Amino acid sequence: MSIKKGREAIQASLSSGLGNKDYLETNWISWKNGETKVLRFITDIEDTLVVAIHSMVETHNGKNANFVCRSVFDAPCELCEKKVYKRDAGYGIAVVRQAVYETIDGVAKVVGYEDQVVDYDEETPQGIVRKKRPVVGIINQSMRNFWNTIALVHEKYGSLRDFDIEIHRQGKELDTVYVSFPLPPKPIENMDSRYSKFMPDLENFLTHIGSEDYYLSRLHGINTEKSEVTKAPASVGATLDTSIDSDINEKTFAEKLQSKLVDSPYG
Ligand SMILES: [Zn+2]
Repeated sequence: MSIKKGREAIQASLSSGLGNKDYLETNWISWKNGETKVLRFITDIEDTLVVAIHSMVETHNGKNANFVCRSVFDAPCELCEKKVYKRDAGYGIAVVRQAVYETIDGVAKVVGYEDQVVDYDEETPQGIVRKKRPVVGIINQSMRNFWNTIALVHEKYGSLRDFDIEIHRQGKELDTVYVSFPLPPKPIENMDSRYSKFMPDLENFLTHIGSEDYYLSRLHGINTEKSEVTKAPASVGATLDTSIDSDINEKTFAEKLQSKLVDSPYG
């Protein structure tokens, strides 16, 4: 499989312009035991970022947080020195899809899939305007349990951006299995511009949770970060996986939305 790894992956992705600073908020797409979701990957397999993560590490105030291993940035890593377990995690971005039904002879039948949308309020010069946006989110999963299968699907069916994929989770904790079924190919028009406004800044986030400042503040309560932005608005639609990424919805991402895209159906 051709997944990008480590610092090169983050930097290559930074220069590809995939990340968009104007995202609204950060959603995380995750599954509960027994849950099924249909997604369209926006990042193809080669844009999946794989980085070494010290996961669920206890922080100075007793919470758990994920840390990108400092060795990814060629820096000495305190958590490695303490022999804290690390593993590769893969990060990608997808949009949540939902079935479209048609009733034929009194029987509801799935005829296709469309973006799941949620309402949000946008501040405009005319006041607050209620708009709809797609549920775009980050998927953070293990290589062995999740991405390996997605990579196989990619190998067999081609670009992940060309078809929806149904992903089912069975089991919990160490007993979790993800089963993925590709759905018939169907292009989404102008995919990049359609979702660009809602793309989370994955690279910025990963760089942040691997930074010296982050290690100091989370592990030792030493706050060197200058501007503390208030908590992001509550995640809607996609589930915020608090068990794994308890630290995620905080100040790491800018929250300002600048509406400037012309090509997006979501305006
Ligand atoms: Zn480390």
